[in-house]
Amino acid sequence: MPIRLLSSEVASQIAAGEVIERPASVVKELLENSLDAGARSITITIQDAGKKLIEVADDGAGIPSAELELAVSRHATSKLVRADDLFSISTLGFRGEALASIGSISRMTVTSRVKEENEGARLRVEGGKPGKLTKVGTTIGTTVRVEDLFYNVPARLKFLKADVTERRAIDSLVTRYALAYPDKRFKLSDGKNIILQTTGDGDPRAILATLYGVDVAKQMLEILFEEQGSRLTGFISPTSLTRSNRKEITFFINGRWVHDVSLSSALLQAYHTLLMVGRYPLTALFLEIHPEEVDVNVHPAKAEVRFRNQDKVFSFVQRSARKTLLAYSPISNIAPSLWGTARTVPGETTRQVGIDWSIAHDEQLLETGDSQSSVSTPQFSTPNPQSQIAPPSTASQFSSIPLLRLIGQIGATYLVAEGPDGLYLVDQHAAHERVLFEKLMAQHGMKNIPAQTLLTPAVVTFPPQSASLLLSQLPLLQYLGFDVEEFGQNTFQVRAIPALFMGSDPSTALRALVEDFEEDETPLQNEIEAKLAARVCKRMAVKAGQALSNEEQRTLLHDLEACDSPRTCPHGRPTMIHLSVDMLERQFGRRGAR
Ligand code: ADP
Ligand code: MG
Repeated sequence: MPIRLLSSEVASQIAAGEVIERPASVVKELLENSLDAGARSITITIQDAGKKLIEVADDGAGIPSAELELAVSRHATSKLVRADDLFSISTLGFRGEALASIGSISRMTVTSRVKEENEGARLRVEGGKPGKLTKVGTTIGTTVRVEDLFYNVPARLKFLKADVTERRAIDSLVTRYALAYPDKRFKLSDGKNIILQTTGDGDPRAILATLYGVDVAKQMLEILFEEQGSRLTGFISPTSLTRSNRKEITFFINGRWVHDVSLSSALLQAYHTLLMVGRYPLTALFLEIHPEEVDVNVHPAKAEVRFRNQDKVFSFVQRSARKTLLAYSPISNIAPSLWGTARTVPGETTRQVGIDWSIAHDEQLLETGDSQSSVSTPQFSTPNPQSQIAPPSTASQFSSIPLLRLIGQIGATYLVAEGPDGLYLVDQHAAHERVLFEKLMAQHGMKNIPAQTLLTPAVVTFPPQSASLLLSQLPLLQYLGFDVEEFGQNTFQVRAIPALFMGSDPSTALRALVEDFEEDETPLQNEIEAKLAARVCKRMAVKAGQALSNEEQRTLLHDLEACDSPRTCPHGRPTMIHLSVDMLERQFGRRGAR
């Protein structure tokens, strides 16, 4: 084939492929345009997860009618003139690609008016072809209406995920921008219901509550650090609040949501040794640095950036987060901790003394070279931190435990027992989790989870995003022995729960489940039932600090002995520590002593 120049339509479609990956990308570009235009109020309407309709209306500066045609063509921007400007960008947009890209893969209508004109103008672009400009009466500001996204690139449609997932991406995007711009009014609706609405009164914690629910929002720690022209503000979760993946780590740099691996790892370093393996914090962090310190022109969707001085930014984020964590939650010096290292404040030296109870080989610990004074063969190993459920192939933690003689409970948290080969300390919460989990999964395996009807149904209300998620998963709940029904907007009624959990709080169980759905991109994938079950069991198990009667202690120990994998809880943490006779003898200097 001879070489030809691509037609501008094909070229635009190719460019669009980079910028617009999914409906949420359209929302992002349009939101950014509205923010750049100085809007104070932004209203977003979507239908069919954005596939049928995305409309973003703002009260910003508007586009002069004479420039409207230019605005929708490629490489047309009002934000950049010289190439040098690229290195001091203070607007969110700068490439002049978004409107052209969106117009080439949808039916797009832009309506806009500036304050200098009495009338507005409207332009429709279909599959990249602009129609005729018409004059319309309208308020100052811009409305971009995007219909039938990807109608002319059906291959793209095939790459989209389930509507729930695409919808969630939009919800989460808008909520995050709302959080980053608390002084703007955001409204997101799906035509019928309002999904998110903020008042623009500048209170980020209220928006945080919409994103994560009131409970979580209350717990989040506020952060504010300034250093040499850089500023870090926002929220980070306390160490007691974690998720099983990194999805809730949010960073904004100069008002733009970015996914930056180095910033995430700076943050994780701040949490180093404070979180369990495989657990991640929730954050909404806003970094402001001088525009010249950051190159935003490295990613088609502007989702990644490059720093001029990466180490400096890394260290600033790491130190700020660490200081905040330590300030809010002074860490007691329990040494040695179960996680193979003493919990230490950086700069403080602690010697590990006494028995090395190391259990987990925390990858991060090894990586950063935290050395342990005496490394003993681990008694148990934690399974792959990525998977919540121990894979059946990891050998040792599946071995059964010997018959144990109960000695008692200490600290209302651990059971002390004697076995043929030494002393066992059992974590009552982890052990109970394991017991409940195996019972539930066994019943589930027999397709028979006995449900128990509640005398008074419990009514639970969720933030809108969580509610729509839960709604889509009701059949799965049924399958696990829950009888849950929609009961008004964002509200559900729990009428029955698995009999196994009788006596526990049904709304707690439901919240646990929803949290799990939220963590999982595709909630119906493999093992989801086991994951859900593990999650619910965690909430339902006896807590540390709960005094148990002798009878309860004995039953728990007995039930644990009967488990298939008694040595770990369903999330992979150990249920017990074994101090062998041999180890005791060594520690007391009875063996191998000089
Ligand atoms: P960019 O944002 O990179 O400049 P876009 O294709 O997103 O490119 O937009 C092109 C131009 O159209 C912008 O530079 C701006 O002048 C104008 N524009 C787009 N959306 C809006 C809006 N909501 N309000 C005012 N002007 C807008
Ligand atoms: Mg733009």
